[in-house]
Formats: sequence, C-alpha cells, structure tokens
Amino acid sequence: MPEESPFRDLPTQYDHFSAQDRWYRFWQQQGYFRSQPHPGRVPYCIVIPPPNVTGALHLGHALNNTLQDILIRQKRMQGYETLWMPGTDHAGIATQAVVERRLLAEEGKTRHDLGRSGLVARIWAWKEEYEARIISQLKQMGCSCDWERTRFTLDPVCARAVRHTFFHLFREGLIYRGKRLVNWDTSLQTAVADDELFHETIPGHFWYFRYPVIDAKAGEPSHVTIATTRPETMLGDTAVAVHPDPAGALDRVEAELLQRLASAPEKEKDELRAEIEDVRYRRRKLLPELLALRQMAADGRMVMLPLLNRPIPLVADEWAKPEMGTGCVKITPAHDPNDYEVGLRHGLPMINILQPDGTLNENAGPYQGQSVMAAREHVVADMDKLGLLWKVESRAIDLAHSDRSKTPIESMLTDQWFLKMERLAQMAIDAVVGGRVRIIPPRYTKGYVDWLSEKRDWPISRQLWWGHQIPIWYCLGASEQELQAAFMGREDVVWRWDEQQGQWLICALEGDLPEDAVPGRKLRREEDVLDTWFSSALWPHSTLGWPEPTPELKYYYPTSVLITSRDIISLWVARMVMLGLHNVQDIPFHEVFIHPKILDAYGEGMSKSKGNGVDPVDVMEKFGADSLRFGLAYLTTETQDIRMPVDFECPHCKGLLEQTRENRMLPRITCPRCHKEFATQWAEKPADKLLPHGLVVSERFQLARNFCNKLWNASRFALMNLAGYSPAPVAEPQLFVEDRWILSRLSTVTRQVTESLANYRFAEAARVLHEFVWFEFCDFYVEMVKGRLQDCSVRGVAQRVLAHALDTILRLLHPIIPFLTEEVWQLLAQVAPERGIDAPQRAAESIMIAPWPEADPARCDPEIEARFNRFQQVLRAVRDIRSRQNVPQKKQVRFSVRCDAATGELLRPLEPYFRPLAAAVAVGWGPDVEPPSRAGHAVLPGMEVYVDLAGLIDLDAEIARKQKELADLDSRIAAQQKKLANTDFTRRAPPAVVQKERDRLKELEDQKARAKLALERLAAGQA
Ligand SMILES: [Zn+2]
Repeated sequence: MPEESPFRDLPTQYDHFSAQDRWYRFWQQQGYFRSQPHPGRVPYCIVIPPPNVTGALHLGHALNNTLQDILIRQKRMQGYETLWMPGTDHAGIATQAVVERRLLAEEGKTRHDLGRSGLVARIWAWKEEYEARIISQLKQMGCSCDWERTRFTLDPVCARAVRHTFFHLFREGLIYRGKRLVNWDTSLQTAVADDELFHETIPGHFWYFRYPVIDAKAGEPSHVTIATTRPETMLGDTAVAVHPDPAGALDRVEAELLQRLASAPEKEKDELRAEIEDVRYRRRKLLPELLALRQMAADGRMVMLPLLNRPIPLVADEWAKPEMGTGCVKITPAHDPNDYEVGLRHGLPMINILQPDGTLNENAGPYQGQSVMAAREHVVADMDKLGLLWKVESRAIDLAHSDRSKTPIESMLTDQWFLKMERLAQMAIDAVVGGRVRIIPPRYTKGYVDWLSEKRDWPISRQLWWGHQIPIWYCLGASEQELQAAFMGREDVVWRWDEQQGQWLICALEGDLPEDAVPGRKLRREEDVLDTWFSSALWPHSTLGWPEPTPELKYYYPTSVLITSRDIISLWVARMVMLGLHNVQDIPFHEVFIHPKILDAYGEGMSKSKGNGVDPVDVMEKFGADSLRFGLAYLTTETQDIRMPVDFECPHCKGLLEQTRENRMLPRITCPRCHKEFATQWAEKPADKLLPHGLVVSERFQLARNFCNKLWNASRFALMNLAGYSPAPVAEPQLFVEDRWILSRLSTVTRQVTESLANYRFAEAARVLHEFVWFEFCDFYVEMVKGRLQDCSVRGVAQRVLAHALDTILRLLHPIIPFLTEEVWQLLAQVAPERGIDAPQRAAESIMIAPWPEADPARCDPEIEARFNRFQQVLRAVRDIRSRQNVPQKKQVRFSVRCDAATGELLRPLEPYFRPLAAAVAVGWGPDVEPPSRAGHAVLPGMEVYVDLAGLIDLDAEIARKQKELADLDSRIAAQQKKLANTDFTRRAPPAVVQKERDRLKELEDQKARAKLALERLAAGQA
C-alpha cells in the first residue's frame, strides 16, 4: 500500500548534488574504476585525449569525455575488462604562453627575469593547479577513469618513452638537424607549426622598387622593377627572378581565361574580359623587357641591390609570374617560403636578417637593431631619396599571426630538428587504407591520408623552456676516436657528424651526459625542447609503460577506440599511428571516432582564449551531471556540429543574459533585470572575485533535465507501489496485454540501444531511450498498470513486470546518466532486491557492475507493438482534441474511430484503457462510424478520430473568446509592423536585435493564423 511505503518522503525533484557526491565516492571505494590485466576477460581500453593543462575544461571536453565514459561504462557492464586511461598534456607552447602572459600582466616580468628553471617552476605550479581542476571536473561529470594510473606527458614514465623514441629514431637516421624556413613567433621567440597560425586580412601596401642593372648595355633595361609588401626584406635579397618563358606563360594564361569565359555565368564575364585585356596589354607593353631580362639571366648578368650595394644575380624561375605585378620578383630565401624554394633550386645564398626577437641583425647593415616596422619606414624613405621608389599602391594583405601570442609571424631560416616522414607516413597511410585502423565517420579518412601523403618532414624542435629537452649534446673539435674512447662499451650513446655546423651530435638514451664526458672537450646540451605533439604521439603506448614490456602493454595494446575531435586528426591521430607502428610494431587503436564540435552562438568553436568556453561545472550546477551528459549525447549526431548559444544566469534574480562577443570576456557584469553585479570566470581582481558568481548555462540542457525528472518521478511512483513485492517467475498466461507489450518494447529498445552504441550513434541511443522512457514507459505503461497496482488480486504480476521494466531501463540508461540510475537502483534494491520475469535474480550491488541487458527475441512481438502504436496514436489524438477544446480534465468524453475492420479489431481489446488514460469512452470502431454532429476531429494514417463535443463546451462563449484573441493579435501585429517600418530603428539597432523583432512579428502572425483556424472550426460547429 502506498501509505506504508518508505519512499513517500522522496522529493519530487531529483537532488543531483547529494546523489553525485555519494555515488562517485561509493564507486571509487568499491574500486570499480580499477582495471588489471585479466586473462579470462576480453580487454576494452580507451586512452583519454589528454586535456592541456593550459586551463580548465570547457563543454567541448565535456562532450569528448562523456562519450568515452558512455562507452566505457557500457563495455564494463558487457563484461569486458575495461580500462579508461586518464592523464593530461603539458601542452608546451600553449602553457608557457599563458604563464608568461600572466607573469607580465601581474608582475611586469619576462621569462628572462626568471631564467629557465625559475620559469619552469612557475609552469609546474600552474600545471598542478589546473591538473587538479581538470581531474575534479572529470570526476564531477562521473568519468570512470582508472585514476591510479593517471599520467602526465612530462612525468618520468612518459619522459622515458620520449627519450627512447628520440634515441632510436636518431640512431636510425630518421631524426636530423638542418636549416629550414620556419614560422617564427618573435614574441615567444620560437618556431610554431602551420596549425598554430591564424590569418587576418589587414590594410597594407605594395611598394615598387627599382634595382639598377649592373653594366646595362645599349637597348637593355637600366633597371628591374619589383613589388613587395615587406620592403625591409630587400636587405635579405639574394636574387631577382624573371620567368624563363614569359611569352609562353602569357599565352597559357590567356588561353585558360578564354576557356573560362566561354563557360562562365554572365555576371562573371566582365571581370574575365578585363583580365584577358590585361594579359594582352602586358604582352604589348611588358613582354619585350621580360624577354630581354630572361636573356640577361641566361647570360649570368647581375643587378645591384640598393642600400647595401650587393650585386645579386638575375635568375630565370617560374615563380616569377609575367601576368602579375611587374613580372619580376625579388628573392629573399631566408624570409619567404616560396623564395626559399627558389633559393634551393638556384643554389642562392640564404641571408637571415632577423634576430630571434624580431629586430634586424648585422646582415641588415645600417638598419641593424631596428624593429621590422622601423626598418620598413627607413628603407622606403632611403629608396625614395635614391629615386628608386617608383610607386606605392594600397592593398589588403593576408598576414599570418601566431595563435598563441597573437603577433605577426615572420618567416625565418633557423636551425631546427626534423623527423623524416617518408617511411613513417607511409606505414600510417597503409594502416588506415588497409583497414587496420578504421576512422568513423569514414569521410574523415581522406584528410588523414592527404595530409600524410605530403610526407613533409616534421619539425620537432621548439625554442621553449617547457617541455622535453632534446637529448642531444654538441661536441666541437673532437675526433671520432675520442668519442669512441669516451663512450666505449656503451650501447646507450650514439653520435653523428653534423656537416653543416662542423660538430658532433651526441644522443644519450637515459640520463644526462656530463660536460666533460669526452675528456678535454666541453659538451653543450641542446636547449630546444620537443614539439608537444612528439610526446602525445606516444600516448597510447607510453601510458601503458612502454618501452618496458609491461603486462598492461601486452594486454591492453592496441587499445580499442580513440574518441577525438576532427581538429587534431593530422596533428595527433596520424602521429600516434606512425609512432605506435614504429615503437610497438602495432597500431595504437582499432577505431577512431570523430565527434562533432560544440560551437557558440556565432558558430565558433569553444576556446579558453576566445572567452567563449563554457565550464561544464556551471551547467552541472544548474542541471546536474546526468543532464549535462544526456544533453550532450542527445546532440551527438554523425553529421552536425552542435550549435550552443549560452546565457549568463544572474545569481541574484536568476534572470538570463545572452552571452555575446561583447560581454563574454568581462570580469563583472551588471544584470539588466535587477541591476545588481555578478562575477564571471574572468574575475581576477579581489573586488570582482568577491561578487557572487554568475553561471554560464544553455537552454539546450532543459530537455535532458526534464527527462531526468520524468524518470525520477516515474521511478518514485514505481517504488511507492512496490510495497509487498515478492519475486517469482511470471508465466506467459499471467501477463496482461500491456505487460506483453512493454516486454516486447524492452526487447526492441535494448537491441536498438545496443546497436546504436556499438556504432557510435550516441544521439540515436539517447533519442530512442528518451522516446521510449518518456512516452511509452512513463506516460503509458505506468498509467496503464496503475489500476492493477491497487488491486490485490492482480498486483503481484504488475509489480514484477514493473520492477523488471524499471530495472532494464535503468541499466540501458546507466552509461549516459550514471548518477540518477544508481540512485534509483539502490532504492529499488530496498524493496525489490530480486528481479526478473523468467527467473528472478538478486540484483548487483551497484548498477555500474550489473550486466548489460540482453535483447530477448522471444519477447519481441511485432504484432502487439503495432497494435499499441495505433492505440497510442488514437489516444494522443483524443488528448489533443480535449486540450484544444479546453474540455475540463475530469469530464468524460465519448469518441469513435472510423477505420477498416481489421484495425478496429486490433484496437477493440484496448478499449478499457481509454478511460483511465484520457477520460474517454469509445462508442464505435470500424468503417461504418458516423461523425457526431458537433465533433472534434483528427486525421491519422488510415484512421479518423471523432470526439463528441456536444454539451461539453459553451460554443458562443468560446467563439467570443477567440474573436477577442484575434482582435488583440491584430493590434499587436500592427504595432510590430510599425516598429519595423521605422528605418531609424532598423538602421541603427544591431542586426541581431532587428532580427529578433522580425521573428517576433512572424510568431504573432503564426498565432493569428492558428486562432483564425480554430475560430472557423468553432463557427462550423455552431452552424
Ligand atoms: Zn539579476
């Protein structure tokens, strides 16, 4: 009896705070997250994409980790030996940059004030703080990682793997040192990768300079003219190039333009015609001079580089495009990637004019010591004085910036370390093309293969202090015999002669070499560190103990799946495959699942530095961890990124304020509703931090929270109605029709969810469960058995089926909403510890270790599912009509259904259920049903539903009400139209505000259309 139930005091709102803490602690105490190699079980292992210790996690990470935990929890329930390996990444440049920025802002110091060890100590302190924060965030989300195995890419185990990898690659000749043009960040003073840049178009200029030809003969041009956007780089020029076949090149360009013109749409034709005209003009005006210059280049003639008075050659190279600029280009191999290639082709000197800090060096002559910008001004002025500045044009310039320091990038020739990609990349391509590593969705395979196919050597050195210092020692002046004598009998030291610099490169496997390791010589340690991706590339095997042949490595490697985002397929996924194959001779994982990205209201990815990263802890505080997880899973489709506009929630009045580009980085915000102030995640000053914290939340988690509450309340009802429950096998004849239906549905849903998760279709799994639990279990089955639960003669079976259904639903939902399901599981154990239909069994002590439900094909009954499907349609139609016509809740209505005889027969047995579920009584089924005179009406596939409304509603009053509503809507629409007709408003207000007003008008017009239709319907009934 409900009165006796110990569950009467359960709150009607699920209290996520207390449940989360309680159950996470319980799981940890029970050791459920631990995993050990177990010969009797099949392993299932995921290594976490290690979050950067740069900062706390945002919703993008929450999504990534939710998906991993869903898989891990499900596989654990399926009986696999599951290991989720946790850890964090030192994130070299990113972390050093934030700590340096903080140092400058708060103390006015640079890294040089602290020195290498001082700065590194600061970064370690930062790491400790954020690692703890990250792990706490993951725990609050319910992540079931094996925390005792937590690794960090700079810890001794990972560091040892890095040393071993470097040593072996160096010994095999795959790692080398060389001069290369790199993207140089003059602020952080390090090389940065292409992927660490962003491009911005800024207003700039084209300066046209004239270089005098040395000993120009009669008829020859006296000068060559070149154009540049970076005048100061002329100081590093080592040639001027002209096309080797300017006539042919112009012909080809014209032919191509003519071809495009023939098939171009009308609106593009004028532009193409102008381009063709330009090519013809160039042929007339420019070609004779270009032909002369080409001949001079062939003759080995020189021009004089002004300002420095350095003779430089004219060369013939296709990089000079006769259809562009002056047809000639200056060549600065040390400061431009294309010129660098030209320099290599012609064996030109490569003159670096920059210091690491971006000022000019001794090669810049009188401009030495100047900044790039100062030198630019002076060079232009001096060229002008010499009469060698021909003209200046304004141009929009695409400029690369460093993502970390936000400063413009300089191309610079530097000494760097490289990893040869040829063979390694091919192995990684083969692994994916051959199907050993499967990328899901498969459309991401192409990017992976394309990137690797370039086989560009990987620049692995970075001029930073935070990271794995390259284990190389330089030795000058020694003979090979000296090295042999010094390292005699040592397998762990190898060396190679560096031709370019005339020095020995010595690599040591473990430990550091002392300065005097070679007697009489002084060794110098390489100061650079390795690219951060070098250590993360080893993550799947370094975390398992490689290079030691640990039991873990043997058992868990290759891991099962990697869950990551598409941004790092080449940076990370490809490199893990490469180095896994190299180091362990096996792939690192069998599958890679690429999940969608979470975007903000503007369609931008979330990031700490943009200020649009939402802390999952905020969302959990408002909605609970389960709702966060369910909401994210529900949105994880295979095709779409997740658009997530977010709001600040005022801690004073709970009012919402849209987060925008303008307000998202503010440390404090004034609530527009209650005018009180609150702090944001950017609060750093003590005064700001003292203010109450405003959460950043998204309405997109509302559905998940409602779902959790729905399940909670249905569970609460079930628990209260299980008093007196006794387990016993239930024989087929004892089952009511709704029991057979819910058992069939459970079987079907179990199969669907199992299949969805096996194929990484997270949204599908969440949607199937949402629909089933909400509309079928809670709204339907629970309502249908209510009557039986009050009836002593049939209560037993109803209780057994109800307990079993709830048990199965909890297990299916556990991977997605672990806390709520554990909470209910434990409560259920108090009243129904043994559950099941065929052979009841004692339930597991925690849902975490309960077995995953098996779909029982014998229970699957397509006919009964079809019958209930129709039943639900009719029921929904009756309910809709009732609510549409405002029929009072308790008031009973009569309805009839016109359908074919077979459908009528199918539905007739369910007649009694319409009374409790919709306060409705069926008066007719079948083809002969006639509509009552005053009816609410709904059309369904193959059926028409009529609800008799005679005497139920006061038609005249209803019509009057509708007419008033319509008039009201008319005046509001008029006001809205007036507002939008005001050009003062539409021009001045931000576009988003205007759009909002337009949407409002549309909404009002929709409402009017609906009201009109309802009025027409009523009027028809009146007639
Ligand atoms: Zn407020």
